Amino acid sequence: MATSISRRRFLLATGSLMIGAPVMSRSARAQPPRRRPVPSITLPQSLSNATVPVVDFHTHLQRRVTAEYLIERMDAVGVTRLVLSPLYYGDSPDGRIINDGNGSDEQALDYARRYPDRFIPLVGMQRGEMDHAGFWDGNRDTVRILEQTEAKLASGEFFGMGEFMLRFYPYTTAQGIVAPSDMNYSPFSYAMRKFADLSAKYRAPMIMHAEAEPAVSESMQKLFEAHPAATFVWAHNCGRSSSNDIAAMMQRFPNLYADLSGMVYSGGPDPRAYGVYWPRRTEWMHLVVDDQGWVRPDMLELFNRLSKRFVIGTDVAHARVYEFYSRHLPRWRKFFAQVSTEAMQDIAYRNAEGLFRSA
Ligand SMILES: [Zn+2]
Repeated sequence: MATSISRRRFLLATGSLMIGAPVMSRSARAQPPRRRPVPSITLPQSLSNATVPVVDFHTHLQRRVTAEYLIERMDAVGVTRLVLSPLYYGDSPDGRIINDGNGSDEQALDYARRYPDRFIPLVGMQRGEMDHAGFWDGNRDTVRILEQTEAKLASGEFFGMGEFMLRFYPYTTAQGIVAPSDMNYSPFSYAMRKFADLSAKYRAPMIMHAEAEPAVSESMQKLFEAHPAATFVWAHNCGRSSSNDIAAMMQRFPNLYADLSGMVYSGGPDPRAYGVYWPRRTEWMHLVVDDQGWVRPDMLELFNRLSKRFVIGTDVAHARVYEFYSRHLPRWRKFFAQVSTEAMQDIAYRNAEGLFRSA
């Protein structure tokens, strides 16, 4: 496995990984069906932190957000593509839960078919049925959702799965969002192992939200170890792990990536993002930037050294929050100015592009 991963990484590093080209591997795995080719990104003549193409790897799709509205928001701040994780969660009739969601895989697929250069659809994993312990042990919903997920991945039109909500702290936002569920589902469950099998079979990255409490991190690592051919994207800088822990895990698991979604937002009167100790502070939580958006030295060293393993994301989770999409980008541009030029390109778009083309 190490051989195939390093070969792929070599191809990515040299820019010679062609669209749809099979990953060279010594192992005799069956090739998954070809995925829909993603159009190439045209690079600007002069590449800087202000002009580098951006693939927003971590966003969510809700029913009332139109494709054209999203494109308008993206164009205003030079974002090339959005990876859409449909947010199935709806609102509860008693008003206790307000998600502003009701997105669907079919909606994400429709957007990607109409604008193949702008949207990358994932199979959505934020579903009410999955916020129950029974789902993760395996129940009727598990069987159904696994079957449906496999059919969607086999179609070649979906590029991954996400966001799996495993260890999640509840929050209420200034925009009236109320997400009250204090989720704590083991990453090494029956269902997650089955999804990891699908990830391996279809070379489909899986984005996972799991705050890195010690038991959670241990269980995540058991999952990585048991599924070396799967592709894991551990959201929010590996659940806000320390730079030392991230480096150690990435060295141990060649199939581990991290998305930095939300991790550069800080400062101001009320940031309410994963870049600060929000919505709960724990002793094992590590931040990426200070109040001004300056990357902490240990994290900067990590991103430069292991730049092939990180992607970014704005993590706009609810429909009404897209109105503020453009506010997210200055912090990312400031982040790109601080990492090396190589790391800037890797993290802004190159790694994401590699993940879309790994089938
Ligand atoms: Zn998340």
